[in-house]
Amino acid sequence: MKLGALEAGGTKMVCAIGDETGKVFERISIPTKTPQETMPEMIAYFREKQIDALGIGCFGPIDPDPKSETYGYITSTPKLAWQNFNIVEAFKEALGCPVGFDTDVNASALGEATFGITKGLDCSMYLTVGTGIGAGIYINGELLHGMMHPEAGHILLQRHPQDSYGGKCPFHGNCFEGLAAGPAIEERWGKKAVQLADRPEVWEMEAFYIAQALVNYTMIFSPMRIVLGGGVMHQSQLFALIREKYKELMAGYIRTKELEDLDSYIVPYSLGDNQGIMGCLQLAVWAESKYRV
Ligand code: ADP
Ligand code: ZN
Repeated sequence: MKLGALEAGGTKMVCAIGDETGKVFERISIPTKTPQETMPEMIAYFREKQIDALGIGCFGPIDPDPKSETYGYITSTPKLAWQNFNIVEAFKEALGCPVGFDTDVNASALGEATFGITKGLDCSMYLTVGTGIGAGIYINGELLHGMMHPEAGHILLQRHPQDSYGGKCPFHGNCFEGLAAGPAIEERWGKKAVQLADRPEVWEMEAFYIAQALVNYTMIFSPMRIVLGGGVMHQSQLFALIREKYKELMAGYIRTKELEDLDSYIVPYSLGDNQGIMGCLQLAVWAESKYRV
């Protein structure tokens, strides 16, 4: 099958062509402007390739519930030009093929669960720590939506005792994203995150927040493995710090074989940063197979 994949981000739209084995044949990147400017470019790309189905992993919040009246819409996003835009219908109408739709992080979770490091596990999680923080949850062969979709970057955390920074999230002071996403690190310490690589206190604090979040996720979802990605995780020293803090905060409460080996419980993404686009290919596979029945 010839499948289209769209990783729709706030700054760029990555459009790719691939197949059901996760192979990506080609891709282009288009800056995210307004729907009026950006949609025709993406449609022209996919139309020319004559794809059988399209999978979209989208920045949010979105409505991924096929039973809802606003299914396929990008809903209350701060990117105002895209607010209340029905991206699924726009592609369906223009391309005439089945379209799968989910959050960008759910797509990454699906990419890892289908082709990558969480393949074969019944329940797994993908967390991105970048410009924002979000998590996708894969559970028993599906992606978790519930009433909308998880917004696991906005969970409330205990502050680090040495942290007087107010937080960057306009809604919540001490939410995870407000305290620990890239822009929060940069505002708190007054430098680009990448320029803070040699400041241990920066990463100790960052690990304190990420580990707290992961402990909460373990308690709530009981994932069998947690995959971490996003720009901030390029600081690979974070992994050891997170595992150490996680162990301390867990305090021996949960005893499973997975938690005995934190090196394989808390892991970096495995698909060379293609987990998102490969997950979109799998969303296209799902859309195509639903369409056939
Ligand atoms: P997005 O979340 O917008 O898709 P990224 O996942 O690349 O994009 O995240 C961008 C954020 O990650 C920025 O805030 C940036 O400061 C931070 N970042 C990018 N590269 C690094 C790095 N090498 N070390 C630390 N932080 C980084
Ligand atoms: Zn928040």
